[in-house]
Amino acid sequence: MQNMKHEGCEICGSLKDHEYIYYKDGSDDCNKLPVAFENLREVKKISPGVARSQTLLACPKCKTYYFHKVDYEFFPNGSENEEWLDRLSGEENKEINQSVSAPPLFSR
Ligand SMILES: [Zn+2]
Repeated sequence: MQNMKHEGCEICGSLKDHEYIYYKDGSDDCNKLPVAFENLREVKKISPGVARSQTLLACPKCKTYYFHKVDYEFFPNGSENEEWLDRLSGEENKEINQSVSAPPLFSR
């Protein structure tokens, strides 16, 4: 068995395989994805949109891919937001590596 790349990664190793948050606009409890999420880099937007977006992210250190999805529902008394962050499996990582050619974010 091959070890998963993210294990022991100082950037994304603390993230769970699946993160989910829900929050209402204007409410005091500001649920947020873990700080590690902010260190991931955007690879590409999958469905650009104002309210709902799906973005492919990658860890700049171990190159594990993550899928970030945002959903937004408008309500007069405060819009509801949902966010998902899913770590892609090793197999999915491989497929993306083949479809994303020379991502500029890793060239440093
Ligand atoms: Zn990582």
